[in-house]
Amino acid sequence: MATPRRTRGTPAPGLAPDGATALSALAGVGPRVAEKLAARGLETLQDLWLQLPRGYEDRTALTPIRLLQPGVAAQVEGRVEAVERGFRYRPMLRVALGDDSRATLVLRFFHFRAAQAAQFQPGVRVRAYGTPRPGQRGLEIVHPSYTLLDDADASGLGDRLDPVYPAVEGVGPATMKRLIAQALDRLPGDEVLELLPPALLREHRLPGLRESLLTVHRPPRDADVGALLAGTHPAQRRLALEELLAHHISMRRQRIARRAHAATPLADPALAERLREQLPFALTAAQERVFAEVHADLGQPVPMLRLVQGDVGSGKTVVAAMAALMAVADGRQAALMAPTELLAEQHLGNLRAWLEPLGIEVAWLAGKVTGRARSRALADVADGRAQVVVGTHALMQQGVAFHDLALAIVDEQHRFGVHQRLALRDKGGEGGRVPHQLVMTATPIPRTLAMAAYADLDVSAIDELPPGRTPVQTVVMAEGRRPELIERIRAACAEGRQAYWVCTIIDESDEVVAQAAQATFEGLSAALPELRVGLVHGRMKAAEKQVAMRTFKEGGCDLLVATTVIEVGVDVPKASLMVIENAERLGLAQLHQLRGRVGRGSAASSCVLLYQPPLSAMARERLETMRETGDGFVIAEKDLELRGPGELLGTRQTGLAAFRVADLARDAGMLPLVHELGEGLLRDRPALAERLVERWVGGAARYASA
Ligand code: ADP
Ligand code: MG
Repeated sequence: MATPRRTRGTPAPGLAPDGATALSALAGVGPRVAEKLAARGLETLQDLWLQLPRGYEDRTALTPIRLLQPGVAAQVEGRVEAVERGFRYRPMLRVALGDDSRATLVLRFFHFRAAQAAQFQPGVRVRAYGTPRPGQRGLEIVHPSYTLLDDADASGLGDRLDPVYPAVEGVGPATMKRLIAQALDRLPGDEVLELLPPALLREHRLPGLRESLLTVHRPPRDADVGALLAGTHPAQRRLALEELLAHHISMRRQRIARRAHAATPLADPALAERLREQLPFALTAAQERVFAEVHADLGQPVPMLRLVQGDVGSGKTVVAAMAALMAVADGRQAALMAPTELLAEQHLGNLRAWLEPLGIEVAWLAGKVTGRARSRALADVADGRAQVVVGTHALMQQGVAFHDLALAIVDEQHRFGVHQRLALRDKGGEGGRVPHQLVMTATPIPRTLAMAAYADLDVSAIDELPPGRTPVQTVVMAEGRRPELIERIRAACAEGRQAYWVCTIIDESDEVVAQAAQATFEGLSAALPELRVGLVHGRMKAAEKQVAMRTFKEGGCDLLVATTVIEVGVDVPKASLMVIENAERLGLAQLHQLRGRVGRGSAASSCVLLYQPPLSAMARERLETMRETGDGFVIAEKDLELRGPGELLGTRQTGLAAFRVADLARDAGMLPLVHELGEGLLRDRPALAERLVERWVGGAARYASA
């Protein structure tokens, strides 16, 4: 079959014609295979060019069996000396292989077909590749890749590193390799393929796209294998640069599109000033600065989209309240949306306490608001009597119509999808006007990343805690010291302090976590009969959770056993001790969030990170970091270094984790360059910028213009 989309003469603008060719053009791709590939997002030739190996196997040489080292992948060739099949707990096949070095290696299989087992007759020549590990009788390779060789067969060794591609369900590794090789054979000429200006490549000493792709897919013999495996080879860096550039441009264009909308400027700070005067505390310098930034944005006739980052307890809510008052002062409405009922309710309490004395009507809309109360709230929102509306996802539902929404505030925005955030924005918009948006997060993002993650919005940081907070003292403790810990809780509560006991199980269902929490609750209740022990977990009804939380907040409970449902925002000043179980399995960001629940009052607080030994090196470093610092920004940097950005940001939020080539943890150093080049291309070479986005991000922007 010929390449279908190729037309003579000039190629279609924006797309490399060969790159856009459907994979059905390749030999061996029928409807079934095409479907399997499409399920992994592989639909065009270009998708295969960019489907990079996840590793390499060095099959250019044979290693004598005697010289094999545990943990070091190698290729060997030998004859079958003995075969053993077993069925002890599960089927098993062991093949002993010997070579001229007079040593023996065991190939071990747990999954195999009868025919496969039958191939291994004593004396047969086998070439195998894999990573040897110490076994019961010397080294063994579990599930090696292998080929059987005829005696006549003198098939040569590979002449380059063999790429290993990410597995695609239903398409075997050999087929995958063949298809990618075919796709590469159709790489078009540079005039179509290369998008980056030659001067730029020269200046940064980066190879062209063709050379980069070929190097990565078919590394030459003398390639720097270490760099390739680490992902730092110039060929890989060039690909990552192009991808990051495309994403940057795409996000900047969204920003530009957003700024083409009109918004009503909100310029009257009188009410916000009155709130400030009434507060029982003075704003921190950081709060002042951030409010000034918000104030300046709101005065513009284009919609604000500003992210306020601030550590737990830094006081984001009051800044949000002052912003809301800018809308109210203009006779319009503001909405504040939070990801959980608990948190939304806490905001409601704060806002009512602050705003009602100013004569402002605050309405409440959450899932549990039903019947008459709901109809009344909806009517108030629709006719404008409600000047500020606080709620959960319920705010975005159909049937919720605002009279005149001027400002949408989203708390803990990483817990919402981009689409949900946009849904709230779309509640405004009379006559093409778009509400201003303020999004808040307590998950600080390293500065370098913020540049990539938030290229489409403006970022403020509340990088200072209100005065008088004593830092939380953090202790790392092995699970075996639990009895001692229980005594500590007994003593603390006897002094009138309150404590959290956080149960975590990773990668299990809500159900299982709830059971674990229940069991811990029962155990602690029995061990501490004099204490009032509460329980809150995700499987409880919302109303039950509220009751448990409220009881704790009001001091009617000494020890609260909880799952991570208490993660976000909940404020209980007297809680000054927190125990986190299985802390070694949590990420830094989550540990930091959890710990932020204590240390909100004036009492000295402590946090005990309980772990199950033995600790991996990585877990040890995480816990050590927690012990050493309470600064969310420092923790975020460390998190990025240790773990990479995927989890840090959440895929839903930005689509960043969906990079094909780039890895923000590894490539963060390139971001300033990406920023600079991206701005330059947008300004000077818009058509080229368009093609980059087309190639990497796709025509239909994955997230609508924010
Ligand atoms: P977060 O940024 O985590 O959302 P909050 O807005 O919930 O933090 O604020 C945490 C607590 O600190 C609240 O009780 C709030 O009233 C209080 N607070 C906020 N700003 C100040 C300040 N400048 N001085 C003292 N307390 C403050
Ligand atoms: Mg908050």
